[in-house]
Amino acid sequence: MTYSLYQHQNIHNNTIAFPAGKVVCIGRNYLDHIRELGNEIPEQALLFMKPSTALVSIDTPLSIPKDLGECHNELEIALLIKSPITKGDTINLAEMIWGVGLGLDLTLRDLQANLKSKGQPWERAKAFDDSCPVTPFVPLSEFDNLNQLEFKLSVNDKVRQEGDTSKMMRSIEALLTEITHCFTLLPGDIVLTGTPAGVGVLNSGDKLALTLANRYKFGCEII
Ligand code: ZN
Repeated sequence: MTYSLYQHQNIHNNTIAFPAGKVVCIGRNYLDHIRELGNEIPEQALLFMKPSTALVSIDTPLSIPKDLGECHNELEIALLIKSPITKGDTINLAEMIWGVGLGLDLTLRDLQANLKSKGQPWERAKAFDDSCPVTPFVPLSEFDNLNQLEFKLSVNDKVRQEGDTSKMMRSIEALLTEITHCFTLLPGDIVLTGTPAGVGVLNSGDKLALTLANRYKFGCEII
């Protein structure tokens, strides 16, 4: 059996010398997405994790699980951590974040609904192998303000998701503070900052176009 070995890359396709770590994700961070799924607004951030084995480069044709119901796209801003952040640290983005990319929080929606109804954890629906395709990372210095960052997903040339971090319920700094209250972040870890509205089914043969800040473009094909 084979499995993919993921390594972080920059936009020149050079390896970034951090280990592939855990992925800490936030659910329900954009009101429009909370409304589209009819979820309640959480008082605390809704946090979950994907293991390093969920990571895969978006450059490689993407294989999604078959026969497990609908697999949905959730396009999210991904932060690559470069120095440890733990409980009580004052957040300094320039010191703590290597760069920014895009990640897909692939979600087996039918399975997730089933697990939710039983009060069970979501890992089977969200943390499976290759459930977190990520783009190469752009250095943080290329961005003026992480809390005003646009991003977009098109599927087969139709726009499906348009996000802007200014519409998040928690700022990047607040999110890192809340996450690290529970989970220390280490160099090579990734934080996914939540999906805006527009989640939907992915199928074999779909061609995805991802855009970050209107200038960085990435492509991906579902096989
Ligand atoms: Zn998500």
